[in-house]
Amino acid sequence: KAKELGRNNFQYFSAEMNSSVTDRLELLNRLRQAITNEDFVLHYQPKVSLASHQIIGAEALVRWNSAHSGMVSPASFIPLAEETGLIIPLGEWVLRTACRQNRAWQDAGYPPIPISVNLSPRQLARGDIVEMVERILTETGLEAQYLELEITESVMTTDVEKSFALLTRLRSLGVKISLDDFGTGYSSLSYLKRFPVDTLKIDQSFVRDIATDQDSAAIVKAIISLGRNLNLTVLAEGIETEDQFQFLLANGCDEGQGYLMSKPVPNKNFVDLLTQ
Ligand code: C2E
Ligand code: MG
Ligand code: MG
Ligand code: MG
Repeated sequence: KAKELGRNNFQYFSAEMNSSVTDRLELLNRLRQAITNEDFVLHYQPKVSLASHQIIGAEALVRWNSAHSGMVSPASFIPLAEETGLIIPLGEWVLRTACRQNRAWQDAGYPPIPISVNLSPRQLARGDIVEMVERILTETGLEAQYLELEITESVMTTDVEKSFALLTRLRSLGVKISLDDFGTGYSSLSYLKRFPVDTLKIDQSFVRDIATDQDSAAIVKAIISLGRNLNLTVLAEGIETEDQFQFLLANGCDEGQGYLMSKPVPNKNFVDLLTQ
């Protein structure tokens, strides 16, 4: 009986596996096609000064505008793009589109703000990232000071010397660097002191619970004081409530981003925010 069950389980498991491999291949094919067709759009989420409520920046976040399944969230295709290397052409498209858009806002007379673009570890690992950034800045006519690159802590822990050299070169172009999802990785504080970084972005998982959980509140306060002591700008991600906003302001956090101020929005809506 056990044998029978086991065999059934095996068949069931193997059918599941086949279907998930097929799904993955199908997704991969559609993603590859989408990159060729440039079926993506960027949404922009404002970054604000907590003290003044002014928009001091924008983060570009990619969405896949898929004929097959509508607007697809990056969480469901960035990991696959990373694994397969498709993040290289996709990431270049994102960077070019974001820089071009920021240049267009400036040309339209809006006060200049930096645009932040997420870089995945794989893009840094390629080694030609500095040349790509330089080329795209030239191509789009955007000044380097209006571009910020968001990297995650993992960059500081894998191939430390190489990452250090790349970030130093990027920064000497005049580009800003921020550490995304800060607090969730395993970066050593001594690297943080050494690494060329401008901003710490406190991960939204800590921000979510600051009003209700003492540990999250303590972690957020510690990150803010760490950032201040190292002369870094500190930004909190995922601010959804007035209570969270007030807590962060009262504890010396400089900047914030979150649904309380605005969700990421298409260009036409972002321009309305800049006008207000
Ligand atoms: P991230 O860079 O940490 O971006 C923040 C994510 O939190 C975004 O999700 C944003 O929409 C969401 N968010 C912002 N405010 C709030 C809030 O108040 N509450 C909640 N619950 N969520 C909020 P999104 O756009 O789905 O992006 C998810 C992740 O996908 C990003 O996390 C980033 O790691 C990655 N990603 C997005 N665009 C790109 C890209 O162009 N290139 C790369 N390499 N990764 C990207
Ligand atoms: Mg980010
Ligand atoms: Mg983040
Ligand atoms: Mg995140």
